[in-house]
Amino acid sequence: MDLTHFRFETDQDGIALATWDSPGRSMNVITPEVMAELDRIIDAVAGDAAVKGCVITSGKEAFSGGADLTMLQGLGAEYARLSRERGEEEAMRFFFEETRRLSLLYRKLETCGKPFAAAIHGTCLGGAFELALACHHRVVSDDDKTRVGLPEIKVGLFPGAGGTQRVARLMQTGDALQMLFKGDQIRPLMARNMGLVHAVAKRDSVVAEAKAWIRGGGAALAPWDQPKFKAPSGKVYSPAGMMTWPPANAIYRRETHDNYPAAKAILQSVYEGLQLPMDLALKVESRYFSKILRSPEAAAMIRSLFVSMGELNKGARRPAAIGPVSLKRVGVVGAGFMGAGIAYVTAQAGIEVVLIDQSAEAAEKGKAYSHKLVSDQIMKGRAKTADRDALLARITATADYAALSDCDLVIEAVFEDPKVKAEVIAKVEASIRPETIFASNTSTLPISGLADGSARPDQFIGIHFFSPVEKMLLVEIIKGRQSGERALAAALDYVRAIRKTPIVVNDARGFFANRCVGAYILEGHLMLAEGVPAAMIENAGRQAGMPVGPLSLNDEVGVDLGLKILKATKAQAGEGAVNPLQERLLVALVEGEGRLGRKNRKGFYDYPENGPKRLWPGLAALAGTRQDPDAVDFQELKHRLLVAQAVEAARVYGEGVVTDPREADVGSILGFGFAPFTGGVLSYIDGMGARRFVELCRRLEAKHGARFAPPANLLAMAETGERFYGRAEARAA
Ligand code: NAD
Repeated sequence: MDLTHFRFETDQDGIALATWDSPGRSMNVITPEVMAELDRIIDAVAGDAAVKGCVITSGKEAFSGGADLTMLQGLGAEYARLSRERGEEEAMRFFFEETRRLSLLYRKLETCGKPFAAAIHGTCLGGAFELALACHHRVVSDDDKTRVGLPEIKVGLFPGAGGTQRVARLMQTGDALQMLFKGDQIRPLMARNMGLVHAVAKRDSVVAEAKAWIRGGGAALAPWDQPKFKAPSGKVYSPAGMMTWPPANAIYRRETHDNYPAAKAILQSVYEGLQLPMDLALKVESRYFSKILRSPEAAAMIRSLFVSMGELNKGARRPAAIGPVSLKRVGVVGAGFMGAGIAYVTAQAGIEVVLIDQSAEAAEKGKAYSHKLVSDQIMKGRAKTADRDALLARITATADYAALSDCDLVIEAVFEDPKVKAEVIAKVEASIRPETIFASNTSTLPISGLADGSARPDQFIGIHFFSPVEKMLLVEIIKGRQSGERALAAALDYVRAIRKTPIVVNDARGFFANRCVGAYILEGHLMLAEGVPAAMIENAGRQAGMPVGPLSLNDEVGVDLGLKILKATKAQAGEGAVNPLQERLLVALVEGEGRLGRKNRKGFYDYPENGPKRLWPGLAALAGTRQDPDAVDFQELKHRLLVAQAVEAARVYGEGVVTDPREADVGSILGFGFAPFTGGVLSYIDGMGARRFVELCRRLEAKHGARFAPPANLLAMAETGERFYGRAEARAA
């Protein structure tokens, strides 16, 4: 057979091996060409009496990441074109048939009459795992890199090539729904325990084990095609089913607040599909899939969380003329909360770290944080003692600045005090090589101002981490007035090395993320001051799609930090720069009540030693007024919380602090969890259309004040109908 994406050979036992190895790609992805070749392989196996069965494996380091999402994006565009040209009905027919081709292909494999087995090493996700699920037998390697799963929900989709139906027939309905809602990547042993795969084998013997299964007479009949098949949870309409479905509905609402049509489609597909034979069930799944693929939520999430994020990770903003910057050794000065985390993620990436603090003991204390984090991983079975030893051996903890002499990059994370920073900058610069890049992790001080104290401002840049460093995926890179191209390239290479996503912003107070976060928290504070019950504020935040309510978020970052920033802003920019209601609230909480946040177990919430956090009952008295909850416009609370952030983001964009909508969107989701189903802060505005968004701002401005006033760039967009993305594409052209 003449194939490009697969190698196909048959051994002396008559067992075929299809090795998927698409040329010119580091990872196999499902494309129309791959599908066409798989189709021919199925025909060849089914049509040749000498072939007993077939093993599908990968010739690459990983099995496959799944379908090419840009292919799905293309289908969406084709639908829009057909709909315009030939009408909705024809467009729908085309779309339905096209989007179920993969599902039909997998069903063809499953029912072709010959046994197929998947031999999996490395990641096998999404459409690729759906291929494995359609095979009659699955063997995975016991390797640390091996993961299976159906993560489609994370980009607003759901498994539309049989995944919802096969998973729901392999395990209890509740477990299947959890797996599909979460989209987690599952380790080999767990996958076997869940019934997702049949066997776990050594990496080198997955193919041999899969072949042995076929040789041993493995049946070419999926469990659900056997006449006496019973789903693990029994029938939907049964006492057991009635124990499952009402809570499933409740869990769906609790987890999604009805913001994710894909999650609802999972619920519907499984519920309806389980009542039907497989072929019809797959058709039901396909109907929901074609609907979800056309949803604005899927389009926005695919664009931001797959396409744009991929582009940023690949260095979309990196100056092309600068070659790769060597990053063998990185210095971290300040081994406190942030510095300790930065040292850990850097060492984790295989880079040598020199961790400095005022005393050797303080530096050692920072290093101990890495010890703790890897030990936690060991406890969970995710790391070995040898990994811990190797990682700790890469971190040199010391108080001696001379140890920085051969570092390629030094990041400071000392106290947020310009004087302390200036001293540290001078000391570091006296110890490093001329070409070493210096970065500050400051969260509030302008980079250009700090660089004034540097003898080499062109090699000075901001690398702003979010806390906790080891968990947060975003890093803001801040270009000071004089930051040079090599400093930017080095910062981007570093962020890529530690496997986080960078956005590049210009220097301004609060940079990008913290300005939007500040607007979210401020809105929560003002609602409280207006007498809105605190529980309603928090629920409005979560129901709008934020991971936590504004008051809860403020407790995490520290209520006192909020007050400190507010005072610093007032000192620098005058009375008018701060909101007096917010100031009064924070002063009362911090100075009056000593409530600093989670750190002292007292903030907007109380944090009892044993038990969940609870809103502090004193909040209502602090506000001095209380609105009747039934009279509060809950929808408006939700709007306020999202619009406050989006209008601030538009302002930041208008000021030229963020220059690329992709960065604002990706940054908002990764940095502060802005309602992911919207695609991010600017996609939220684009999704509504600038005109409608401006109208909404005007309404909120009239009722709640000037912070909702739409900036000039938005007014112009409302006038012309332009979009952030339309504009970005025009700029690029
Ligand atoms: P921290 O107080 O926990 O740590 C600061 C560390 O710097 C301390 O260990 C201190 O001993 C050390 N230090 C002080 N002066 C020093 C000197 N002259 N030489 C060497 N070490 C010195 O503070 P943190 O929360 O880790 O913040 C550090 C920096 O990171 C600040 O600029 C802050 O704005 C920024 N930042 C903080 C967060 C956050 O959430 N905490 C987030 C992003 C950025």
